[in-house]
Amino acid sequence: MEILSRYLRQICSLPQVTYHPKCARIKLNHLIFADDLMIFVRGDVPSVTAVAHALDKFGSISGLVANPDKTEIYFGGVHNDVKALITQATGYSEGNYLWQSSVDHQKIYMKSWAMCCSPWDEGGFNIKEVLSWNNANLCKGIWNLLHSSDSLWAQWHKTYAVKQGTIWTATVKPAHSKVGEVSCISGSLLEKFGTAVFFERALAKTCVSKNGKFVVHKAYDLIRNHYPKLRWAHVIWHPSVLPKHSFIATLAGQHKLPTVNSLCRRGLYLTNWCVLCKHAMETHSHLFFYCAFAGDLWRKVLAWMGLNGRTSNLRRELHWCSLRQHRRHWKAGWYRCCLSACIYTVWQERNARIFAGHETDVAILLKQLQFTVKVRILNRHTKDSRMVTTHLSSIYA
Ligand SMILES: [Zn+2]
Repeated sequence: MEILSRYLRQICSLPQVTYHPKCARIKLNHLIFADDLMIFVRGDVPSVTAVAHALDKFGSISGLVANPDKTEIYFGGVHNDVKALITQATGYSEGNYLWQSSVDHQKIYMKSWAMCCSPWDEGGFNIKEVLSWNNANLCKGIWNLLHSSDSLWAQWHKTYAVKQGTIWTATVKPAHSKVGEVSCISGSLLEKFGTAVFFERALAKTCVSKNGKFVVHKAYDLIRNHYPKLRWAHVIWHPSVLPKHSFIATLAGQHKLPTVNSLCRRGLYLTNWCVLCKHAMETHSHLFFYCAFAGDLWRKVLAWMGLNGRTSNLRRELHWCSLRQHRRHWKAGWYRCCLSACIYTVWQERNARIFAGHETDVAILLKQLQFTVKVRILNRHTKDSRMVTTHLSSIYA
């Protein structure tokens, strides 16, 4: 990798090669992390082809060649004609950013990025929203400035930067860094809270601990977007459930999976037939679990859990389970795990049939699901492992 780094550094001394506009000042043109390599150059043909030559030269010496299937070029602000020339010259495909659209290329998003950044119990994936997190940290600085009366630093700012006004109305000068930070956040936050007084009151009420310390994550919670609570989120986001199952089950519970019916409503005209039963329109309610195929799988899973003779749909199942979510018994985890695994299995089978033309029987899907669930439950409940194994094995057949 040292040799590759040297080659990549050398190409930037060539007259035809230009650094990426946001990397030129620090002369950065590549980053290597484990077996991942990211290269940054200006989006023009001479720069990118020089990089491709450097990679070829390294490949001929070391035998390490970039895998075209795993190599992508990400463009920002590059004309389509130039993109076409670059992808043609290098043989690498164009990578897609998440949540990216352009005039001639519109992506369909089932869920906004802001909502993905909300906590699990509000239907998100608990991702930190960077702008709000940064503002929350700035709030801590402002709070310290307003309330550290014995601090020399706070006194200096109040005397020379704020002067007679308030911190919110002070004129910003580059030297007065802390007051400058206020101007970065005051516009959006004051709009949200009405006035500086209300905002300061909200900070005092929610973000200060009993010992007078400012708590940044409470400020983040105050600033971020809030969504209605989902009572069933704890059913799905639980240690008993595999994260990939939780992810799909959350989208299914909110009707955010790209079912044929949802895509048709967004203007994509497809055949809206359910590929599993071939008897009805594909909607969320149908797939989970009114569909004859999916319903058959779910009934067999319920029978495995000893819950015979009930017909149900996803909404009713989530409600039923949310009323029992406090239970710590391994059987409560078993139910959660089975429900999410069944949603995941139905969605996977539907995708396999549409995109790979591959069909699997309910009996085989059931065996696979039972195996996955059994391994997960045994891993979670090691103390009760003998009892769990005996119980699951006795009803496995
Ligand atoms: Zn169906």
